[in-house]
Amino acid sequence: MSEPTGHVNSEDGDAVVHVIDALVAYARERLLLDARDHDWMRNRLLELFDADESLRAQAVALAGQGGEAIVDGALASDEVMGTLSAAPSRIQDEYDDVRATAGNMEAMRWLYDYCVANGSVKLAQLRRNVRFDSAGLVVTVNTAKPEFTDMRKAARGNSVDGSFAQCTICHENEGLAARGKRTLRTVEVELSGSPWFWQFSPYGYFRQHGICVNREHTPMRVDESTFGNLLDFVIQFPDYFLGCNAALPRIGGSVLAHDHYQGGGEIMPMQRAAAWKTFTSPEVDDAVLDIIDWPASALRVRSRRRDSIMRVCERIREAWVAYDDPAIGVAAHGPDSSAQSSLAPIARYVSAVGEPPAYEMSLILRNNAVSDQYPLGVFHAHPEYFFLKQEPIGLIEAMGLFVLPGRLVNQLGALEDALVSGKDLPADLAGFELMWRAARDGLERSGADAHDRNAVRAAVREELGGICRRILGNIAVFPTHEGLERFVEGLGFVVQE
Ligand SMILES: [Zn+2]
Repeated sequence: MSEPTGHVNSEDGDAVVHVIDALVAYARERLLLDARDHDWMRNRLLELFDADESLRAQAVALAGQGGEAIVDGALASDEVMGTLSAAPSRIQDEYDDVRATAGNMEAMRWLYDYCVANGSVKLAQLRRNVRFDSAGLVVTVNTAKPEFTDMRKAARGNSVDGSFAQCTICHENEGLAARGKRTLRTVEVELSGSPWFWQFSPYGYFRQHGICVNREHTPMRVDESTFGNLLDFVIQFPDYFLGCNAALPRIGGSVLAHDHYQGGGEIMPMQRAAAWKTFTSPEVDDAVLDIIDWPASALRVRSRRRDSIMRVCERIREAWVAYDDPAIGVAAHGPDSSAQSSLAPIARYVSAVGEPPAYEMSLILRNNAVSDQYPLGVFHAHPEYFFLKQEPIGLIEAMGLFVLPGRLVNQLGALEDALVSGKDLPADLAGFELMWRAARDGLERSGADAHDRNAVRAAVREELGGICRRILGNIAVFPTHEGLERFVEGLGFVVQE
């Protein structure tokens, strides 16, 4: 075999060839590389390693290792994995084949495995995330995702000049080098007869987390058609839930300019929460409504019929977006008469043993009013909790899965260290004073050894979950279940006997 280029020594050349062969073998096995494309792919990689000094250096460093280590190293390179990945059309064809033979959910699982194998889902990074249950919630510390504090910048989606994509979730991102999306692969989904597409999130907050995106770059909205779209999705993909953020700034999704939904294969804490009270529905006798026993203001419509759920949800939505209640600070419109109320609907297919299958739509009522006291939002995390969470509380968190910024790994570690060693709160963690005191008091009350690492960690985590729960209380538009009950009774819902 001849040396790939003239300007490197033959030892390095051999190393690069060894790495290329390992990667091509991997692509043959896992990434749908056709045997007929074997030589062509080797040459494409050769060109890539030749053109990029740092890639070449990495290859040389990895060459002494086995195939697995080489692939692990390559997974970090969007360029290498993007080159090895099959074209979107090939992915779609394979996905369609799996659908036809094994069903929709099996096809999704196949796609997920592919996206892990080609590095677009960063599974190794995700496994490093801290995740624990506390106070009836799931708390994760996501070390993979950057923290946004400037929401306007986040909402604009960091547009890249000169690309075809108008925002970060447009279909035109598939393969876009400037955003590190050479490995991104999507599949077509049809909702209410319109073209949408599905992609898995690189930073997945939970099992098989993905987004379903309108093929058209059109603004977020929540109306009757949204309910229909969400139900259409869960009818096709019964193991996934799908939800839509409230289409308003501060309280909902970070990308408002492009209609999209979030979903995946996990049941969220709110979906597991019991009903506080159940109501029968006026005019729609095959649907019931629950007030969910949940710190945010949340309802759940259940029925076996798609149309019944849509009717009940639309009735509630219409009433909610027009609802004014000065006593609790809810105003349907802001001073500039812009709409301030919306809701986040989340659809799920429910199949319990011994019961006929049904659909449910959870509705989280949201309002984005501001006041002199709360200029960033009355129903937003309040400032005393900003040390933990300053970003808007979107639907995933409103459902009880908190995604806290990666900086907390070190901060909580330092907090634990100080507690274990009996030192004072470190000066750079002054913002954590509230939590610090509560964790220390909790340790004292429990009688646990205050210098035991496990006991300290348990106390810190319990307090963390407690704060997340209080943040959900901040976003509750009705401070009590009774207040929400008066609202639904005003719409004609009657407590079920
Ligand atoms: Zn877009």
